[in-house]
Amino acid sequence: MPRIAALIVSGGSGTRAGGGLPKQYRRLAGIPVLRRSIDAFRACPQISRVQVVIGAGHEAEFEQATAGAPIAPPVPGGETRQDSVGRGLAALANVNPDFVLIHDAARPLVSQRIIESVIAELRSGAQAVVPLLPVPDSLRRLGDDGVGPSVPRDGLCRAQTPQGFPYQLIRSVHERFVGQAASDDVTLAELAGMRIVAVAGEEANFKVTTAADFNFAERLLAGASETRTGAGFDVHRFVAGDHVWLCGVRIPHDRCLEGHSDADAGLHALTDAILGALAAGDIGEYFPPSEERWRGAPSRLFLEHAAELVRNIGGAIVHCDVTMICEWPKLAPHRDAMRASIAEILGLDISRISVKATTTEGLGFTGRGEGLAAQAIATIRMPA
Ligand code: MG
Repeated sequence: MPRIAALIVSGGSGTRAGGGLPKQYRRLAGIPVLRRSIDAFRACPQISRVQVVIGAGHEAEFEQATAGAPIAPPVPGGETRQDSVGRGLAALANVNPDFVLIHDAARPLVSQRIIESVIAELRSGAQAVVPLLPVPDSLRRLGDDGVGPSVPRDGLCRAQTPQGFPYQLIRSVHERFVGQAASDDVTLAELAGMRIVAVAGEEANFKVTTAADFNFAERLLAGASETRTGAGFDVHRFVAGDHVWLCGVRIPHDRCLEGHSDADAGLHALTDAILGALAAGDIGEYFPPSEERWRGAPSRLFLEHAAELVRNIGGAIVHCDVTMICEWPKLAPHRDAMRASIAEILGLDISRISVKATTTEGLGFTGRGEGLAAQAIATIRMPA
Protein backbone atom coordinates (compact mmCIF):
# COMPACT_ATOMS: atom_id res chain seq x y z
CA MET A 1 0.00 0.00 0.00
CA PRO A 2 1.44 3.41 -0.89
CA ARG A 3 1.68 5.91 1.94
CA ILE A 4 -0.51 8.90 1.18
CA ALA A 5 -0.56 12.25 2.97
CA ALA A 6 -2.98 15.15 2.74
CA LEU A 7 -1.59 18.68 3.05
CA ILE A 8 -4.29 21.20 3.91
CA VAL A 9 -3.40 24.82 3.30
CA SER A 10 -5.17 27.05 5.80
CA GLY A 11 -2.93 30.10 5.83
CA GLY A 12 -5.42 32.68 4.58
CA SER A 13 -6.57 35.55 6.74
CA GLY A 14 -9.56 36.59 4.60
CA THR A 15 -12.47 37.84 6.70
CA ARG A 16 -14.79 38.76 3.82
CA ALA A 17 -17.25 36.12 4.97
CA GLY A 18 -17.90 38.16 8.12
CA GLY A 19 -17.91 37.01 11.72
CA GLY A 20 -14.50 38.61 12.35
CA LEU A 21 -12.66 35.28 11.97
CA PRO A 22 -10.61 34.08 9.01
CA LYS A 23 -13.10 32.14 6.91
CA GLN A 24 -11.50 28.73 7.50
CA TYR A 25 -12.26 29.03 11.23
CA ARG A 26 -15.85 30.16 10.79
CA ARG A 27 -18.47 27.56 11.51
CA LEU A 28 -20.38 26.09 8.60
CA ALA A 29 -23.58 24.47 9.91
CA GLY A 30 -21.95 24.36 13.35
CA ILE A 31 -18.53 22.96 12.34
CA PRO A 32 -15.47 25.07 11.46
CA VAL A 33 -14.66 25.09 7.73
CA LEU A 34 -11.12 23.81 8.39
CA ARG A 35 -12.45 20.95 10.52
CA ARG A 36 -14.76 19.85 7.72
CA SER A 37 -11.82 19.78 5.30
CA ILE A 38 -9.67 17.83 7.77
CA ASP A 39 -12.45 15.34 8.49
CA ALA A 40 -12.99 14.72 4.76
CA PHE A 41 -9.39 13.50 4.42
CA ARG A 42 -9.38 11.66 7.76
CA ALA A 43 -12.46 9.77 6.52
CA CYS A 44 -10.46 8.35 3.58
CA PRO A 45 -8.88 5.07 4.75
CA GLN A 46 -6.10 5.35 2.15
CA ILE A 47 -4.75 8.55 3.75
CA SER A 48 -2.49 7.94 6.72
CA ARG A 49 -1.39 11.48 7.55
CA VAL A 50 -3.12 14.89 7.52
CA GLN A 51 -0.83 17.91 7.83
CA VAL A 52 -2.24 21.42 8.12
CA VAL A 53 -0.41 24.68 7.38
CA ILE A 54 -1.84 27.65 9.31
CA GLY A 55 -1.38 31.40 9.25
CA ALA A 56 0.73 33.19 11.86
CA GLY A 57 -1.13 33.77 15.11
CA HIS A 58 -3.94 31.28 14.38
CA GLU A 59 -2.71 28.62 16.84
CA ALA A 60 -5.61 29.09 19.25
CA GLU A 61 -8.20 28.96 16.45
CA PHE A 62 -6.54 25.80 15.10
CA GLU A 63 -6.64 24.17 18.56
CA GLN A 64 -10.32 24.94 18.87
CA ALA A 65 -11.19 23.80 15.33
CA THR A 66 -9.38 20.47 15.72
CA ALA A 67 -10.44 19.66 19.29
CA GLY A 68 -10.86 15.90 19.66
CA ALA A 69 -9.19 15.09 16.32
CA PRO A 70 -5.86 13.25 16.58
CA ILE A 71 -3.85 15.33 14.13
CA ALA A 72 -0.22 16.39 13.70
CA PRO A 73 0.77 19.83 15.06
CA PRO A 74 0.27 22.54 12.43
CA VAL A 75 3.08 24.08 10.40
CA PRO A 76 3.28 27.89 10.31
CA GLY A 77 2.64 29.18 6.79
CA GLY A 78 4.61 31.68 4.72
CA GLU A 79 3.93 34.96 2.93
CA THR A 80 2.15 33.39 -0.02
CA ARG A 81 0.14 30.23 -0.60
CA GLN A 82 3.11 28.82 -2.46
CA ASP A 83 5.45 29.48 0.50
CA SER A 84 2.93 27.80 2.78
CA VAL A 85 2.69 24.69 0.59
CA GLY A 86 6.52 24.55 0.43
CA ARG A 87 6.72 24.61 4.23
CA GLY A 88 4.02 21.97 4.54
CA LEU A 89 5.85 19.70 2.07
CA ALA A 90 9.09 20.16 4.03
CA ALA A 91 7.28 19.21 7.23
CA LEU A 92 6.24 15.91 5.64
CA ALA A 93 9.89 14.93 5.04
CA ASN A 94 10.05 12.66 8.08
CA VAL A 95 6.86 10.89 6.94
CA ASN A 96 8.18 10.68 3.37
CA PRO A 97 4.85 9.64 1.83
CA ASP A 98 4.64 8.19 -1.66
CA PHE A 99 1.92 10.64 -2.65
CA VAL A 100 0.59 13.93 -1.35
CA LEU A 101 -2.79 15.56 -1.95
CA ILE A 102 -2.64 19.34 -1.56
CA HIS A 103 -5.98 20.90 -0.62
CA ASP A 104 -7.33 24.38 0.15
CA ALA A 105 -8.97 24.44 3.59
CA ALA A 106 -11.66 26.72 2.17
CA ARG A 107 -13.12 23.85 0.11
CA PRO A 108 -14.86 22.04 2.99
CA LEU A 109 -17.37 20.10 0.86
CA VAL A 110 -14.79 18.03 -1.01
CA SER A 111 -16.24 14.57 -1.64
CA GLN A 112 -14.74 11.14 -1.04
CA ARG A 113 -15.25 10.53 -4.76
CA ILE A 114 -12.86 13.36 -5.72
CA ILE A 115 -10.26 12.34 -3.12
CA GLU A 116 -10.38 8.73 -4.25
CA SER A 117 -10.24 9.53 -7.96
CA VAL A 118 -7.13 11.71 -7.45
CA ILE A 119 -5.50 8.86 -5.51
CA ALA A 120 -6.49 6.32 -8.19
CA GLU A 121 -4.74 8.37 -10.91
CA LEU A 122 -1.60 8.68 -8.77
CA ARG A 123 -1.56 4.95 -8.14
CA SER A 124 -1.72 4.32 -11.87
CA GLY A 125 1.33 6.48 -12.45
CA ALA A 126 0.12 10.08 -12.92
CA GLN A 127 2.60 12.84 -12.01
CA ALA A 128 0.09 15.63 -11.40
CA VAL A 129 -3.66 15.28 -10.92
CA VAL A 130 -6.19 18.11 -10.83
CA PRO A 131 -10.00 18.09 -10.46
CA LEU A 132 -11.44 20.18 -13.31
CA LEU A 133 -14.89 21.56 -13.99
CA PRO A 134 -16.12 23.06 -17.25
CA VAL A 135 -17.13 26.72 -17.34
CA PRO A 136 -20.87 26.80 -18.03
CA ASP A 137 -21.34 30.58 -18.30
CA SER A 138 -20.40 32.83 -21.18
CA LEU A 139 -17.23 34.74 -20.38
CA ARG A 140 -16.52 38.41 -20.91
CA ARG A 141 -13.46 40.49 -20.09
CA LEU A 142 -13.96 43.69 -18.11
CA GLY A 143 -12.09 46.66 -19.52
CA ASP A 144 -11.18 49.97 -17.87
CA ASP A 145 -14.24 51.60 -19.45
CA GLY A 146 -16.83 48.93 -18.76
CA VAL A 147 -17.82 45.61 -20.21
CA GLY A 148 -15.30 44.40 -22.77
CA PRO A 149 -15.36 41.69 -25.44
CA SER A 150 -16.55 38.14 -24.97
CA VAL A 151 -13.96 35.43 -24.36
CA PRO A 152 -14.42 32.04 -26.02
CA ARG A 153 -15.05 29.48 -23.28
CA ASP A 154 -14.45 26.40 -25.44
CA GLY A 155 -12.07 24.13 -23.61
CA LEU A 156 -11.83 26.37 -20.53
CA CYS A 157 -12.03 24.70 -17.14
CA ARG A 158 -11.89 25.69 -13.48
CA ALA A 159 -9.16 23.99 -11.44
CA GLN A 160 -10.07 22.75 -7.95
CA THR A 161 -8.20 20.96 -5.18
CA PRO A 162 -7.09 18.45 -3.94
CA GLN A 163 -4.28 18.30 -6.45
CA GLY A 164 -2.22 15.12 -6.20
CA PHE A 165 1.46 14.43 -6.85
CA PRO A 166 4.23 11.97 -6.07
CA TYR A 167 5.66 13.55 -2.90
CA GLN A 168 9.36 13.75 -3.82
CA LEU A 169 8.54 15.11 -7.26
CA ILE A 170 6.32 18.01 -6.13
CA ARG A 171 8.70 18.80 -3.30
CA SER A 172 11.61 19.20 -5.71
CA VAL A 173 9.42 21.29 -8.03
CA HIS A 174 8.50 23.61 -5.15
CA GLU A 175 12.16 23.99 -4.19
CA ARG A 176 13.12 24.69 -7.80
CA PHE A 177 10.45 27.36 -8.35
CA VAL A 178 10.65 29.21 -5.03
CA GLY A 179 9.42 32.76 -5.58
CA GLN A 180 7.75 31.97 -8.91
CA ALA A 181 4.16 33.20 -8.73
CA ALA A 182 1.67 30.39 -9.32
CA SER A 183 -1.94 30.25 -8.19
CA ASP A 184 -1.89 26.50 -7.58
CA ASP A 185 0.42 23.50 -7.55
CA VAL A 186 -0.38 22.01 -10.96
CA THR A 187 0.77 25.33 -12.41
CA LEU A 188 4.21 24.66 -10.94
CA ALA A 189 4.04 21.07 -12.16
CA GLU A 190 3.29 22.44 -15.62
CA LEU A 191 6.35 24.77 -15.44
CA ALA A 192 8.42 21.71 -14.58
CA GLY A 193 7.13 19.95 -17.69
CA MET A 194 5.08 17.38 -15.78
CA ARG A 195 2.10 15.85 -17.55
CA ILE A 196 -1.18 16.85 -15.95
CA VAL A 197 -4.07 14.42 -15.61
CA ALA A 198 -7.62 15.62 -14.93
CA VAL A 199 -10.35 14.06 -12.83
CA ALA A 200 -13.91 15.36 -12.64
CA GLY A 201 -14.36 18.20 -10.17
CA GLU A 202 -17.68 18.96 -8.49
CA GLU A 203 -19.75 22.13 -8.15
CA ALA A 204 -20.10 21.45 -4.40
CA ASN A 205 -16.30 21.52 -4.05
CA PHE A 206 -16.28 25.32 -4.41
CA LYS A 207 -14.14 27.70 -2.42
CA VAL A 208 -16.15 29.22 0.43
CA THR A 209 -15.20 32.89 0.52
CA THR A 210 -18.08 35.31 0.96
CA ALA A 211 -21.09 35.39 3.28
CA ALA A 212 -23.21 34.32 0.27
CA ASP A 213 -20.92 31.29 -0.21
CA PHE A 214 -21.48 30.31 3.44
CA ASN A 215 -25.24 30.54 2.98
CA PHE A 216 -25.09 28.44 -0.17
CA ALA A 217 -22.85 25.81 1.49
CA GLU A 218 -25.22 25.64 4.48
CA ARG A 219 -28.14 24.99 2.12
CA LEU A 220 -26.21 22.20 0.40
CA LEU A 221 -25.40 20.63 3.78
CA ALA A 222 -29.00 20.95 4.95
CA GLY A 223 -30.10 18.93 1.91
CA ALA A 224 -27.81 16.08 3.04
CA SER A 225 -28.92 16.05 6.65
CA GLU A 226 -31.93 15.41 8.83
CA THR A 227 -33.36 17.64 11.52
CA ARG A 228 -34.17 16.28 14.98
CA THR A 229 -35.95 17.87 17.93
CA GLY A 230 -35.63 16.94 21.59
CA ALA A 231 -37.45 18.13 24.72
CA GLY A 232 -36.19 18.40 28.28
CA PHE A 233 -37.79 19.21 31.63
CA ASP A 234 -36.33 19.75 35.09
CA VAL A 235 -37.40 20.85 38.56
CA HIS A 236 -35.40 21.90 41.60
CA ARG A 237 -36.60 22.78 45.09
CA PHE A 238 -35.89 26.11 46.81
CA VAL A 239 -33.99 25.97 50.11
CA ALA A 240 -32.26 28.59 52.25
CA GLY A 241 -29.52 30.49 50.44
CA ASP A 242 -28.60 33.71 48.69
CA HIS A 243 -28.35 32.95 44.96
CA VAL A 244 -29.42 30.59 42.19
CA TRP A 245 -27.64 29.41 39.05
CA LEU A 246 -29.89 29.57 35.98
CA CYS A 247 -28.71 28.97 32.41
CA GLY A 248 -25.14 29.41 33.59
CA VAL A 249 -25.79 32.81 35.21
CA ARG A 250 -25.44 33.48 38.94
CA ILE A 251 -28.54 35.37 40.05
CA PRO A 252 -28.84 36.86 43.57
CA HIS A 253 -31.98 35.62 45.35
CA ASP A 254 -33.14 35.07 48.91
CA ARG A 255 -33.20 31.30 48.37
CA CYS A 256 -31.07 28.81 46.51
CA LEU A 257 -31.90 25.68 44.56
CA GLU A 258 -31.24 22.29 46.07
CA GLY A 259 -29.42 19.73 43.98
CA HIS A 260 -26.38 17.51 43.73
CA SER A 261 -24.69 19.79 41.18
CA ASP A 262 -25.21 23.55 41.06
CA ALA A 263 -28.94 22.78 40.47
CA ASP A 264 -29.11 24.84 37.27
CA ALA A 265 -32.52 23.63 36.09
CA GLY A 266 -32.26 25.63 32.85
CA LEU A 267 -29.04 23.92 31.74
CA HIS A 268 -30.30 20.53 32.95
CA ALA A 269 -33.47 20.83 30.84
CA LEU A 270 -31.47 21.95 27.83
CA THR A 271 -28.91 19.15 28.22
CA ASP A 272 -31.76 16.63 28.31
CA ALA A 273 -33.33 18.25 25.23
CA ILE A 274 -30.10 17.77 23.25
CA LEU A 275 -29.70 14.20 24.51
CA GLY A 276 -33.33 13.63 23.53
CA ALA A 277 -32.73 14.86 19.98
CA LEU A 278 -29.83 12.39 19.78
CA ALA A 279 -31.94 9.63 21.36
CA ALA A 280 -28.93 9.19 23.63
CA GLY A 281 -30.46 8.73 27.07
CA ASP A 282 -30.72 11.40 29.76
CA ILE A 283 -28.50 13.54 31.93
CA GLY A 284 -28.70 11.17 34.90
CA GLU A 285 -27.07 8.37 32.89
CA TYR A 286 -24.01 10.46 32.10
CA PHE A 287 -23.76 12.34 35.41
CA PRO A 288 -25.37 10.20 38.12
CA PRO A 289 -26.26 12.12 41.32
CA SER A 290 -24.80 9.11 43.15
CA GLU A 291 -21.30 10.06 41.98
CA GLU A 292 -19.40 12.27 44.41
CA ARG A 293 -17.41 13.99 41.64
CA TRP A 294 -20.52 15.80 40.37
CA ARG A 295 -21.26 17.35 43.80
CA GLY A 296 -21.53 21.11 43.28
CA ALA A 297 -20.40 20.69 39.65
CA PRO A 298 -21.06 23.59 37.28
CA SER A 299 -23.82 22.40 34.98
CA ARG A 300 -22.07 23.82 31.93
CA LEU A 301 -20.01 20.60 32.02
CA PHE A 302 -23.18 18.61 31.32
CA LEU A 303 -24.23 20.86 28.45
CA GLU A 304 -20.72 20.84 26.96
CA HIS A 305 -20.77 17.06 27.01
CA ALA A 306 -24.10 16.89 25.20
CA ALA A 307 -22.80 19.33 22.57
CA GLU A 308 -19.71 17.19 22.12
CA LEU A 309 -21.90 14.13 21.46
CA VAL A 310 -23.62 16.11 18.69
CA ARG A 311 -20.28 17.12 17.15
CA ASN A 312 -18.93 13.57 17.37
CA ILE A 313 -21.54 12.34 14.90
CA GLY A 314 -20.93 15.29 12.56
CA GLY A 315 -24.11 17.03 13.71
CA ALA A 316 -24.78 20.61 14.73
CA ILE A 317 -27.11 22.31 17.20
CA VAL A 318 -29.33 24.64 15.22
CA HIS A 319 -31.56 26.23 17.85
CA CYS A 320 -32.37 26.08 21.57
CA ASP A 321 -35.49 27.37 23.29
CA VAL A 322 -35.56 27.36 27.11
CA THR A 323 -38.57 28.34 29.21
CA MET A 324 -38.07 29.05 32.91
CA ILE A 325 -41.15 28.68 35.11
CA CYS A 326 -41.17 30.49 38.46
CA GLU A 327 -42.70 33.44 40.35
CA TRP A 328 -39.37 34.54 41.83
CA PRO A 329 -36.68 35.57 41.09
CA LYS A 330 -37.88 37.82 38.29
CA LEU A 331 -35.87 36.68 35.28
CA ALA A 332 -36.61 39.30 32.61
CA PRO A 333 -33.56 41.41 33.56
CA HIS A 334 -31.31 38.34 33.21
CA ARG A 335 -32.67 36.97 29.96
CA ASP A 336 -29.98 38.30 27.64
CA ALA A 337 -27.22 37.24 30.03
CA MET A 338 -28.72 33.73 30.10
CA ARG A 339 -28.90 33.64 26.28
CA ALA A 340 -25.29 34.83 26.03
CA SER A 341 -24.18 32.24 28.56
CA ILE A 342 -25.77 29.33 26.65
CA ALA A 343 -24.44 30.69 23.33
CA GLU A 344 -20.94 30.80 24.79
CA ILE A 345 -21.12 27.28 26.24
CA LEU A 346 -22.38 25.84 22.94
CA GLY A 347 -20.20 28.00 20.69
CA LEU A 348 -23.27 29.24 18.83
CA ASP A 349 -24.45 32.64 17.74
CA ILE A 350 -26.84 34.20 20.26
CA SER A 351 -29.49 34.47 17.53
CA ARG A 352 -29.86 30.67 17.82
CA ILE A 353 -30.65 30.79 21.56
CA SER A 354 -34.00 31.70 23.11
CA VAL A 355 -34.66 32.03 26.83
CA LYS A 356 -38.16 32.85 28.06
CA ALA A 357 -39.63 33.17 31.53
CA THR A 358 -43.18 32.64 32.71
CA THR A 359 -45.16 32.08 35.91
CA THR A 360 -47.98 29.70 36.74
CA GLU A 361 -50.23 32.49 38.01
CA GLY A 362 -49.59 31.54 41.62
CA LEU A 363 -50.75 27.95 41.07
CA GLY A 364 -48.92 24.77 41.94
CA PHE A 365 -45.48 24.31 43.47
CA THR A 366 -43.90 27.08 41.40
CA GLY A 367 -46.77 29.38 42.34
CA ARG A 368 -46.24 28.67 46.02
CA GLY A 369 -42.51 29.32 45.58
CA GLU A 370 -41.53 25.80 46.62
CA GLY A 371 -39.43 25.26 43.56
CA LEU A 372 -38.66 26.22 40.02
CA ALA A 373 -39.14 24.38 36.73
CA ALA A 374 -37.50 24.63 33.34
CA GLN A 375 -38.34 23.16 29.99
CA ALA A 376 -36.31 23.22 26.80
CA ILE A 377 -36.49 22.26 23.17
CA ALA A 378 -33.33 21.68 21.13
CA THR A 379 -33.20 21.36 17.36
CA ILE A 380 -30.17 19.63 15.89
CA ARG A 381 -29.06 18.77 12.38
CA MET A 382 -27.26 15.51 11.85
CA PRO A 383 -26.03 13.51 8.86
CA ALA A 384 -28.95 11.63 7.31
MG1 MG B 1 -31.71 18.86 37.55
